[in-house]
Amino acid sequence: MSAISWRRTEAGGLIIIELTFNPADQRIVIFSKDLLAELCLALDEIEHELSAATEPDGTADILVLTSAKSDCFVAGANIGEMLAMRDADDIRHFVGTAHALFGRIATLPLPTVALIDGACMGGGTELALACRWRVASDNPKTQIALPEVTLGIIPGWGGTQRLPRLVGMEAALPIITGGRPLTGEEAAAIGLVDACVPVSKMADAIVKLLRQADKEQLSSGARESTPMPEVPPDLVATTSAAIAKERLHPDAPQTALDVLVASAGASMQKGLALEQEAFVRCLGSDTGYNLMSMFLHRGALRKESFGIDAATAGSVSRTAVLGAGVMGGGIAWALSNAGLPVTMKDIADEPLQRGMAAASDMYDQLVARGRMDATTAKAALQAISATTEYGAGFDGLDLVVEAVTEDLNLKKRVLAELEDRVGSGTVICTNTSSLPLDELAKSVTNPGRFVALHFFNPVNRMRLVEVAATESTSPVSLATTVELTRRLGKTPVVVRGRPGFLVNRILFPYLLEAARICDETGAAEELDSELTSFGMPMGPLRLIDEVGVDVTAKIAAALADAYGDCFQAPPLLDRMLELKQLGRKGGGADTAGFYRHTGHSAIPNAELPVSAPSGRTQSAADRSDAADRCLLMMVNEAARCVKERIVTQSLYVDLTMILGTGFPEHRGGPLRYADQRGLAKIVARMEQLSASEGSRFRPCDELRRRVEIGKNFLD
Ligand code: NAD
Repeated sequence: MSAISWRRTEAGGLIIIELTFNPADQRIVIFSKDLLAELCLALDEIEHELSAATEPDGTADILVLTSAKSDCFVAGANIGEMLAMRDADDIRHFVGTAHALFGRIATLPLPTVALIDGACMGGGTELALACRWRVASDNPKTQIALPEVTLGIIPGWGGTQRLPRLVGMEAALPIITGGRPLTGEEAAAIGLVDACVPVSKMADAIVKLLRQADKEQLSSGARESTPMPEVPPDLVATTSAAIAKERLHPDAPQTALDVLVASAGASMQKGLALEQEAFVRCLGSDTGYNLMSMFLHRGALRKESFGIDAATAGSVSRTAVLGAGVMGGGIAWALSNAGLPVTMKDIADEPLQRGMAAASDMYDQLVARGRMDATTAKAALQAISATTEYGAGFDGLDLVVEAVTEDLNLKKRVLAELEDRVGSGTVICTNTSSLPLDELAKSVTNPGRFVALHFFNPVNRMRLVEVAATESTSPVSLATTVELTRRLGKTPVVVRGRPGFLVNRILFPYLLEAARICDETGAAEELDSELTSFGMPMGPLRLIDEVGVDVTAKIAAALADAYGDCFQAPPLLDRMLELKQLGRKGGGADTAGFYRHTGHSAIPNAELPVSAPSGRTQSAADRSDAADRCLLMMVNEAARCVKERIVTQSLYVDLTMILGTGFPEHRGGPLRYADQRGLAKIVARMEQLSASEGSRFRPCDELRRRVEIGKNFLD
């Protein structure tokens, strides 16, 4: 069935040709190569009909481009198709085809208007820009954007050339180099659309535009022959500075800016040629590839079933959390926020008050951001009740999350005691970060009900949840847990139930190597800054302070029990523990770890008990080598996780690390990073380090095997 149809119609005495996008079996309109070809054919037909018309009523007053999909005009181009194009000439041809098509629309012998009701992204916006006019609806779902730079590319179908000619360079710059979407009203305020009206008034708006236009305005293509405006030098400087400061992956925004600067005074044709070449470079770059593929795969992960039949999940309506600490308070918030009553149990009133305060703070954040009204937040908070006793209600619970202190014996005792208090159908989840799941499962008499449900901190901001079963976990308990996480608005990743699951398993060798380097050099801030420049959201030593030096040491010990040397904490952590340098969660307003924390500020801790002689300086090469040591420890462990099938595919290792730790998406995740750097080079470097720094750097079998057979992780 055709995805585009057109028909002749009449409104307000005007003859209108209405061209409608309506691809079958799709919820939205996406520009695929096929859809572009269909648009080309539809234009052929329309042009043919107009040129063949001999009677006045054979002509038309306007061509209207619209979509039959609700809340969507055109949501952009097909990313999968773009990713498949790895050859520069293919990309060039693809862009050239769209340029020719949109140029044709811009110079049709009758006025054109795009009716935008809903998402209008990327190629959709570029199509609208090629029209004579644009009318947007005031539907809150109407968003108009050129978001290409967020995917590591630039607008490539004329957006860099037509937007500045329409709205002026100053208004166009942040849209092209920033990617932020505009509402219909915002677009109207800068002249990106000619009217923003309720959906019911969009047809009237077209008639009004036509009636008000004089003859010259009616002639299409006038903007096409205007030269490109210049980017004033001060605007170049401020935009460049903003890109360098705000963007983790500045290549695409900077390239877009360069195209705008180079196009000054140029004809449309010359400007489009500059755009085309820059687009080819961006799409062919590792950054473009990584950002676009992760965008696609993140959507796929959200829909992944992990082979679990969701229909078998038990219903969950009554829940409890054991432990009202950092995690317990957050998990109680997440459950109550999904409309579930929660009982939060701890051993004393004081931690319960802290847990309630933490949940209350998460609701306050929602209210402050306008995402929830105060009355709803108050009611949701009241769904959490706090107790120090197992009350009568425990036998009617559907699911309990254990989030008590990370201590094997304590957890085993708590789980056994809990099983005595709950009903036979209650699913029991543990939020352990590092303890052996099989060992914990032994403390319940019915291990079929026992599942790991590992949230990340802070629970309200972190989307990812790791879910792990033991050999004995029943399919129903697993399905119930996975479905519950979806109900909480989280993305579940089902992982094998080995200690540390996936995220901590890969993160900890990196954190511990950072602590070891800091002991050798005393240069905490330099190492952190090197890794934030790489793209990590926070340096590893700053992260240890957030997690807590005590918690880090405990998790490291549990993982070292399971996996050996790579998880051995350096002696520096013990010295810090002795001095009560516990990091940011050490208590009090002025606390110390690798940094001294006062409120939100952190300065390097001058009293850090490092072995490094004071006054030692580091060259840029030393700093970069140090950061590389941390990253290589991560890569090695990620490769081991592939071999052990901790998740079902290599891609999920990368996605999970991006979602769970903020590993820079433009690097594609630790495995893609290793692939792109070259596995043979990685192995060679690790062998050198193994000789100089110790056997923890010995490249794992999986890395060596892949080098031998010449197979990347993610090809
Ligand atoms: P926490 O020290 O902040 O809180 C633990 C709470 O458990 C305390 O309030 C303590 O009073 C309570 N508790 C101890 N014994 C209890 C008992 N018998 N019954 C009920 N409550 C009891 O610890 P946390 O950081 O919230 O960690 C809790 C769990 O979550 C641990 O297994 C940890 O590994 C895991 N986890 C922590 C993080 C993190 O970043 N903090 C992230 C993911 C998972």
